[in-house]
Amino acid sequence: MHLVTFQKGRGQRIGAAWHGAILDLRGIETELALQQGERRVRFPSTMLELIQGGPECWATVRRVFDYGRSLVDAQDLQVLTRRGVAYPEKKGRLLAPIPRPARNIFCMGRNYAEHAAERGAQVPDRPVFFTKPPTTVIAPGADIVHHLATAEMDYEAELAVVIGRGGRDIPRAQALSHVFGYMNLNDVTARDLQRAHQQWFKGKSLDTFCPIGPALVTADEIPDPQRLSIQLRVNGKVRQSANTSQMIFDVATLIEVLSLGMTLEPGDILATGTPSGVGAATGEFLKPGDLVEVEVEGLGCLVNQVVAPMGVES
Ligand code: MN
Repeated sequence: MHLVTFQKGRGQRIGAAWHGAILDLRGIETELALQQGERRVRFPSTMLELIQGGPECWATVRRVFDYGRSLVDAQDLQVLTRRGVAYPEKKGRLLAPIPRPARNIFCMGRNYAEHAAERGAQVPDRPVFFTKPPTTVIAPGADIVHHLATAEMDYEAELAVVIGRGGRDIPRAQALSHVFGYMNLNDVTARDLQRAHQQWFKGKSLDTFCPIGPALVTADEIPDPQRLSIQLRVNGKVRQSANTSQMIFDVATLIEVLSLGMTLEPGDILATGTPSGVGAATGEFLKPGDLVEVEVEGLGCLVNQVVAPMGVES
């Protein structure tokens, strides 16, 4: 499933993308329950609730999704929209799949050898972890703000992993069974701040510096996370192009090492590092007006535009 969070009126709803439509999972669940005369189950209203709901909840969501997509395939979308069960996919409707993660996003530095080399860094013998706060997250299609605080704003295409089943001391062999799904993520970075403050947190944590989505793709659709092409384009020009097979520490190892003595929770996000081709290596930083696209194979395309801060002419 390509699970999404979308705007409905003033609120947010969880949905799933299917054949150009967004299924409103709660709307479909209501219709299904009425039709089958079922006692209503508690249905999640946010993506975090869905993930935290565990296997029973995921099975319910799957059943609702299967019914919903059969509706979209068989009926007119306008009719379904009037019934409140499906909407046409259109610009501006999607929010970030997890609009406000419960805690910091875990990130990996220097996890591709060529990227470490282009930054003049050694290939690490242990994963390099740092975090970005939940306040950095923005939706697909939302603007990345070129804050006045930085003159060296850079992009980083990454495969993001979302934890489904939490745990501590998770062995590598079981690690992928803890994964709920995968998303595109752009680890936007202020290189000058990253350098100036030594610790990376400040340069990684400006508002709007973590676009994610467009969907949270469930793990069943990505049988091998180490065989995915990963690409980033600025204004249509390819800047990063690699494969997740080139990671130094694979997803299973990252989960094993990060969970040593530290509990991972359902809904936690792990950004797995970026390949070579960042602006810092070429001197071509992001500027207002740039259109940035991140595309990991099977996860759709994450598109965001860079804009000047409010009140500043670009
Ligand atoms: Mn990164």
